[in-house]
Amino acid sequence: MESTVDIAKLSAELEHLATFTDAPPPAVTRVMLSDTDLAAREYLMRLMEEAGLTVRIDAAGNLFARWSGTDPHLPAVATGSHTDAIPHSGRYDGTVGVLGGLEAIRSLKRSGHLPRRAIELVMFTAEEPTRYGVGCLGSRLMSGAITGRKAEKLVDGDGVSFGDFHKRAGGAGTLEEVRLPRKHFRAFVELHIEQGPRLEASETPIGIVTAIAAPASLRVTYVGAGGHAGAVLMADRRDALLPAAELAVAVDSTARNLGTTDTVATTGVLDVHPRAVNSIPSRTYLEIDVRDVNESRRNNVLDVIRHQAQAIGDRHRQETTVETINADAPATCDPQIVKVIEAAADEAQLTSSRMISRAYHDSLFMAQVCPTGMIFIPCREGLSHCPEEYASPLDIARGVQVLAATLARLSSE
Ligand SMILES: [Zn+2]
Repeated sequence: MESTVDIAKLSAELEHLATFTDAPPPAVTRVMLSDTDLAAREYLMRLMEEAGLTVRIDAAGNLFARWSGTDPHLPAVATGSHTDAIPHSGRYDGTVGVLGGLEAIRSLKRSGHLPRRAIELVMFTAEEPTRYGVGCLGSRLMSGAITGRKAEKLVDGDGVSFGDFHKRAGGAGTLEEVRLPRKHFRAFVELHIEQGPRLEASETPIGIVTAIAAPASLRVTYVGAGGHAGAVLMADRRDALLPAAELAVAVDSTARNLGTTDTVATTGVLDVHPRAVNSIPSRTYLEIDVRDVNESRRNNVLDVIRHQAQAIGDRHRQETTVETINADAPATCDPQIVKVIEAAADEAQLTSSRMISRAYHDSLFMAQVCPTGMIFIPCREGLSHCPEEYASPLDIARGVQVLAATLARLSSE
């Protein structure tokens, strides 16, 4: 199919969306359902309506913009991503999938495509965990991975519950009703920047995701005994930093020694109390992130780390607590959709490469709802979640072209 992507219009829209920010440009801060996010949503809904799409908002604030198909009885094909942005991040994470999805639909309309199935553009609420500490809140609710009742009770840093806050989005119904029935969508395809360096380094314009590694995290606390750094002799100490340090090394070597590159484990948080140079640490707090595309292997690693955390704590005579914060299932992309994307890239004479997404996306939860696929495009130096995040207009246009051809094919089935 000939590309009819209007990259000038799309680039201007991406630029305009970036002006809805609570941080000074080029940084973007757009936290879910803040005044700034609400203004950005108004802008997006205007663009969706200008494109002739029918907009619906669910109770969680997820936006659905529909282009009806010739057969209204068939489940729709969906595309989309998120437009919320963590504090001081960039302008392409998520937005390329929403505005790019919109441009894919407009380009199909311009080319005269008549979809048999409806095509829906989805903007998910709160892919980022900034306000409520839970990632992918909108798609998590759609999939039923979190119930409406549980989501209602989430409380943000200001003590405001999501049960009250979600009403700001102006959506209809209850949070329980956000969950999508099975076979609601025929397929979901998300366009996203890679957020890693591989595509740019290998000069590959299109990445096709085959699986999404799912995150799990643990919280470990050690309580030993504090005291004066000069007065307490070494033999009498129960320094809480020592088991924490040992555990951080054990976490790293556990993942390293498995002999696979697909398991990654990180100790991202280590807080020391009271954190004074002349005081023996009495308490330490760690958060550990473990990811893998293979769920049973990931769960084994979690078991090993929990066991190590306890054993190391016992050896250092510490009061030890180990909690699981979350342990999501990984997702496998649908093999047929992978092939459709691959064929679309071939047809556009663009090299593509299959890859694993090590970051999570709304697609992780959409894969529980319907057959799902993801298209990655390169971003400069793999940088993301920072103001330096950048994807070139050429790469974005190529991604949109492949997405449009994929939607054309899937909506004709
Ligand atoms: Zn994202």
